[in-house]
Amino acid sequence: MAKRELVLEVKKLTKRYGSTTIIDNLNLSVRAGEAVALTGRNGAGKSTVLRCLIGADRANEGTIELDGVAVSETDPQIRRNLAAVIDDLDFFPDLSVVEHLDLLARAHGVADPDEVVDAVLHEVQLVPQSGQLPGTLSSGQRRRLALATAFVRPAKLLVLDEPEQRLDTEGVEWLAQRLRADRAAGTAIVMATHDEMLSRQVATRTVELGEPRG
Ligand code: ATP
Ligand code: MG
Repeated sequence: MAKRELVLEVKKLTKRYGSTTIIDNLNLSVRAGEAVALTGRNGAGKSTVLRCLIGADRANEGTIELDGVAVSETDPQIRRNLAAVIDDLDFFPDLSVVEHLDLLARAHGVADPDEVVDAVLHEVQLVPQSGQLPGTLSSGQRRRLALATAFVRPAKLLVLDEPEQRLDTEGVEWLAQRLRADRAAGTAIVMATHDEMLSRQVATRTVELGEPRG
């Protein structure tokens, strides 16, 4: 069988804060349909790696290419190929749940935005809240909205930082199922997680990060 397309290629990624090395020469290749779970203790550097992957942290050494393009370049192709949920998203305070998703779907040229937004709203179980502003949602509901912003449009690479955070049991089960389906459809996934069930169900590979060294 032909090897699947290489989506993400990280070579010799090194990140230091002063004399402390957080990430030491990390190499990582992720192909379409593969999911990598980044594990390791609190402070091991998982979120740091993810911020580098999405181009939010550029003060690092090494190369990171998404679909052959360096993520440090302000190439619009990067934005099209990448969907990420890390940290707490800043939502537009005046846009309702449905308006957020609609805006994103249209910005990414989704062919049938109304249908897609409706389907995602059902999936994340925010139908009754669809007219509400983000500030009126519970923290778990806001997390569901953040995940929905990634699921409302296609992406070659999905980057998730502890996506299970604040979800109820049923929510984590839904998430595992959703990520498996995306992977089967060819999405490449890199996620940091402390949830062994999620990791077992979704990841094709686990990369454990070590302790930062000073
Ligand atoms: P968690 O499981 O708690 O989310 P993590 O693996 O995501 O942990 P990171 O958030 O990537 O860990 O943090 C990695 C390390 O980087 C931590 O030890 C932290 O102290 C260090 N660090 C982060 N920002 C800075 C900074 N601005 N200056 C110095 N050290 C920093
Ligand atoms: Mg983290």
